[in-house]
Amino acid sequence: MPFLFDPPAVPGLPIHGSDASFPVHRIYCIGRNYADHAKEMGAQAVSRANPVFFMKPADAIVANGGDVPYPSMTHELHHEVEMVVALSKGGRDIDASHALDCVFGYGVGLDLTRRDLQAAMKARGLPWDVAKGFEASAPVSALRAVGGVGHPEHARLSLSVNGEVRQDTDVADMVFPVAEIIAELSKLFELKAGDLIFTGTPAGVGPLARGDRFRAELQDIAVLEGRIA
Ligand code: MN
Repeated sequence: MPFLFDPPAVPGLPIHGSDASFPVHRIYCIGRNYADHAKEMGAQAVSRANPVFFMKPADAIVANGGDVPYPSMTHELHHEVEMVVALSKGGRDIDASHALDCVFGYGVGLDLTRRDLQAAMKARGLPWDVAKGFEASAPVSALRAVGGVGHPEHARLSLSVNGEVRQDTDVADMVFPVAEIIAELSKLFELKAGDLIFTGTPAGVGPLARGDRFRAELQDIAVLEGRIA
């Protein structure tokens, strides 16, 4: 049966050394995955028992370092630099011991956040969706396949804004490493090829203004440059 109107295009990410594009299915995110960031947000001690997950729509992707429009209804757009994991396999109840077999590759992205709306929602005990899932809230770099770089156990993850370093960590400091994030997510959702996972941000989150230029880097793997328009 034909669709009533043309279905929306599948969002895609470029892949280093390939003409193919990575088709994005869902975007999962983990919160509070670096102890220093959880602390700066006023959270209690990070719980290993209860990882915090949320999602963004796939079409929130901004690929190829395009301009990011300043979103509506906020006066406090915040950057959160994060390692991004791209899956080429999925499943349910995946054991952490072979979860990395699901990983296609890695990139770097920004989990852009309307911090003022998030604070208001948190204060009222309401969901964060409007703070996290807006248009263009997920700029992501080109992906680097595991075949080229392996699985980064140690890699510097950093963000500079207008040349000034704002966030700087090593992905080894994640509370839940990648394999455990995949295992935990797969208890809640059926993971699929095309899923992206934002793996959490370190301390140093802060505001972005119109005209700011950002540069996010996952050392030796990915670079993302763009501008708030
Ligand atoms: Mn985040």
